[in-house]
Amino acid sequence: MLKINNLHVKLEEEDKQILNGLSLEVPAGQVHAIMGPNGSGKSTLSYVLSGRDGYEVTEGGATLDGRDLLAMEPEERAAAGLFLAFQYPVEIPGVGNMTFLRTAVNAQRKARGEEELSSGEFLKLVRAKAKDLQIDADMLKRPVNVGFSGGEKKRNEILQMAMLEPRMCIMDETDSGLDVDAMRLVADGVNALRSADRSFLVITHYQRLLNHIQPDVVHILSNGRIIKTGGPELALQVEEEGYGDILSEAG
Ligand code: ADP
Ligand code: MG
Ligand code: MG
Repeated sequence: MLKINNLHVKLEEEDKQILNGLSLEVPAGQVHAIMGPNGSGKSTLSYVLSGRDGYEVTEGGATLDGRDLLAMEPEERAAAGLFLAFQYPVEIPGVGNMTFLRTAVNAQRKARGEEELSSGEFLKLVRAKAKDLQIDADMLKRPVNVGFSGGEKKRNEILQMAMLEPRMCIMDETDSGLDVDAMRLVADGVNALRSADRSFLVITHYQRLLNHIQPDVVHILSNGRIIKTGGPELALQVEEEGYGDILSEAG
């Protein structure tokens, strides 16, 4: 599904290398976690995969289902089944949440050659999914993320994910700033969406989210490279010992 090969990325504006030969492979149906200390390049990875400006790929690449991901426009990536949930979700004043969701869903359907949903079909779908996620109708009418609490923004991202039914979900620090209940809800949302043909890359500084979302594989990122890969026990090791030993062991 997602294959990242020897990815090197620098900032466009300054001569600063951030990713230094990052490689990993997430097969269909699996949940992989990327953990790493602050500044190791976690957010940069998610930005580059989403197609954000300001980063230059100097070597290596990434494919989704064998297609060159980095050559696609951001909206092509979404149509190809990529979904990114960010550490700081964007606020879109003046655009109702419902309108935003409907536009996104129909743009994706169109790109896939599927028929657009009628307003009746869309309403039925969004109400059902919102109910599952304990999102009230009021939140659907408000402008996207404007004035939403941290927990509401995260729930809203899970709603977007549930509506778009992506094949590959990348979540960057979706747990930061969440109270236990909101984190539980995010985890439940992810777990409900787990399936044999959908994969997740869960990027997190802390282990606690991984108590609720059991990963198949855990990668440790340091200085823009994966320095260690293991099972869920690796996350527990980080929880108990911090990053110190793993980093010094890798040299
Ligand atoms: P993480 O998400 O793991 O905390 P980031 O990807 O946010 O790491 O950052 C990796 C490194 O790149 C850090 O040293 C950060 O300061 C630097 N960095 C990222 N984006 C920029 C930018 N736009 N300008 C300057 N430095 C940046
Ligand atoms: Mg950071
Ligand atoms: Mg980050």
